[in-house]
Amino acid sequence: MRRRPWAAAAVAVGAFALVLVVRPVGAHATKTFDDLATIGSDVLAAFFCARRWRRSDPHDRMWGWLALAFAAWGAGDAYWSFDELIAHRPTPFPSVADVGYLAFPTFALLALLARSAQLPRTRISMTLDGLLCATSLLTLSWVTALGAVARNAQDSALAFGVSLAYPITDVVLLTAVLVIVGRVGTGARTALVTLAVSLSAMALSDSAFAYLNATGSYRTGSATDIGWFAAALLAAVAAVSDDGITATAPDAPTRALVWLPYVPAVLGLSAALYSVRDQHKNDVAIVGAVLISAVVFSRQVFAMRENTRLLQAVTEQREELRQQAFTDPLTGLANRALFHDRLAHALDLHRRDMRSVSVLLLDLDDFKLVNDSLGHPAGDDVLVRVAERLSAVTRSGDTVARLGGDEFAVLLEDDGDVADVAARVLTALDQPVLHDTRPVPARASIGTAQLLPGDAPISEAEMLQRADLAMYAAKRQGRHCAVQYAPTLAGAIADELDLWSEITDAAALATNLTAHFQPIFRADGPLAGFEALARWTHGGEHISPARFLPVAARAGVLDRIDRRMIEIAIEQLARWSDPAVWMSVNVSADSLADPSFVTWTLDRLHAAVVAPNRLVIEVLERDLLGDAAVRTVAGLRAAGVRIALDDFGTGYAALNRLQQLPVDVIKVDREFVSPLTDTAAPTDVIAAVLTLARALGCAVVTEGIEDAQQLGRVIALGTDAVQGYLLGRPMPAEQADALVRAAVPRPRTSREDLVPSA
Ligand code: C2E
Ligand code: CA
Ligand code: CA
Repeated sequence: MRRRPWAAAAVAVGAFALVLVVRPVGAHATKTFDDLATIGSDVLAAFFCARRWRRSDPHDRMWGWLALAFAAWGAGDAYWSFDELIAHRPTPFPSVADVGYLAFPTFALLALLARSAQLPRTRISMTLDGLLCATSLLTLSWVTALGAVARNAQDSALAFGVSLAYPITDVVLLTAVLVIVGRVGTGARTALVTLAVSLSAMALSDSAFAYLNATGSYRTGSATDIGWFAAALLAAVAAVSDDGITATAPDAPTRALVWLPYVPAVLGLSAALYSVRDQHKNDVAIVGAVLISAVVFSRQVFAMRENTRLLQAVTEQREELRQQAFTDPLTGLANRALFHDRLAHALDLHRRDMRSVSVLLLDLDDFKLVNDSLGHPAGDDVLVRVAERLSAVTRSGDTVARLGGDEFAVLLEDDGDVADVAARVLTALDQPVLHDTRPVPARASIGTAQLLPGDAPISEAEMLQRADLAMYAAKRQGRHCAVQYAPTLAGAIADELDLWSEITDAAALATNLTAHFQPIFRADGPLAGFEALARWTHGGEHISPARFLPVAARAGVLDRIDRRMIEIAIEQLARWSDPAVWMSVNVSADSLADPSFVTWTLDRLHAAVVAPNRLVIEVLERDLLGDAAVRTVAGLRAAGVRIALDDFGTGYAALNRLQQLPVDVIKVDREFVSPLTDTAAPTDVIAAVLTLARALGCAVVTEGIEDAQQLGRVIALGTDAVQGYLLGRPMPAEQADALVRAAVPRPRTSREDLVPSA
């Protein structure tokens, strides 16, 4: 708040009052001074209001209307003063001056309405406050100005009407001031309160004038003139001190402002009670008192109702918040907090009433890959669809929750078979999820733990740990499967943790990782090449990739293993000078996503002087390749390295994959070969793959050949190359060397002699 305008206004008003009361100069000079000073104050107020209006928000017309109000008032004063000071004739009542004077409350009211248009609508309470102020002020006015005016009825109806108009417009204006001041925010309050005081001073002087006029005792230079002068100066101060905060978003109204409408109520009621003794006034006073009491009563009833409504709203909101605190916003499932709560309760019931409890823990396979390669919207889509499928295959009494990330849980609180539920969940997740018409796998690994009625009670943490161990075991078993907790799992996992620390140790990688090589033969006989298969030496024995690769994947060191295998493969190729013998190496999507993979591989080939086309990189069909991995594959192919699509037909989108990723070799999975032992088994899938491969210009290697029957049939169908235990198991390097040196063709079978050679 700026102090200077206030001080200036206070000094001016003080001086003005002093001159009027003490009259240091003669009566005539005092009158002249009064008239001129009043006109000056009007001009000042009109000027500052207009200036404020020009500078404020165009939607806020308050100051514009106020400028007009003071201009009108000033015009009225000017007319009055002209009669008094220049024409030297008594101004008649009513006169043209009254038009200006009465225009003032009209414009001032418009000003307040303009400001109130920006207030939040609380119509009922505003109306009630308005009614309360209006009845109180009317009662007050009746007892004072209004009553006197009415009783001293003038001879002309016009004069009577104009006389009444003063106190009535004052009541309306004061009512509006009181109602609005109570509702503006603190930011705009200083200016508005100043304005309220200004308008109140105006209204008081006005009413006093109406009273004096009615009783014929008004003279220029009366104390009433101080109110008008002060009102104009205060309006100017208000205009200057409005810090441009025109938007009046109210903060919580202060207690004082809430009680503001009761001030006129108390005044009106006291005035009414006081004047009950006066027989001229008592009927109106009683009506006034009754009306004021009635409005106060309604206001209280309304406030009570409003409080009840607010309380109800708060209660509902609290319930909603409680709901939110227990649901996962993305999927709408229960969240971790609610799941823990329910689990704790279920375990209590197990302890007390021997009730069964089962927990199913589910973790999506390759979810990180989906997020990284297809983006978060795709990831979210997968999570939402998985949630839907989980809810669909469980019963309504089961708690299905998302614990966070791609981890879900189901709590079963009855004797239901948890293995059965797990099987249903796996089936439900077999189908990929569609994201923008694109299929995205939503497979998962599941761990379950069950407490039956006779089992010893355990804690919530232990129950979850059991399910977690089982889930971990499922991941290890090759994923997209369910494992039930058994005490032996803990030992197996401890063993796995050993393996984990070995695998993440770079020195161990150099010594413990070796390769076995499985021969691949051309359909017409000669040795074509080998597939390098990783072996890890752990505790003195070779353990299979099916066991250690998931560990490496979880430890994030799959790329190290892949690169080491490529090094081993290239070393081997360099030893076999026969340019016709090639080597297949399996590479994970993780490794391919690394942009440095192409140059790294080509550098190794170059250093060992091995032709790039002797290296075949096998990519699993079910591995999701992101854009970076697709670029790596294209880069390798451009340099002459060949690409094979491994385990073809076991993924979810074989054709899609071929379109996205041009390859040189398709490896038909043994899943399609093993049934061929049965002579009646159909061969249409393999035949279709062969047709497709021909159309795309790829060679076909058929894997997993274990007997002569299978070999004969796949050769008859036209496969280009064959691989399998029948033709040769994965073997150590020395044996592979011997095979290359001897250049022995693949073993022939009697069955095969029946079919035309390829
Ligand atoms: P894969 O690429 O499909 O490799 C063929 C697997 O089938 C090998 O198992 C092999 O020993 C086995 N196999 C070969 N012929 C037959 C047969 O006639 N009958 C049966 N039942 N099995 C046969 P292995 O060595 O245990 O490898 C398992 C999987 O591990 C491989 O499947 C491959 O996906 C992955 N893998 C192996 N080495 C590596 C590697 O260095 N890096 C990566 N990323 N993955 C590897
Ligand atoms: Ca392979
Ligand atoms: Ca394979």
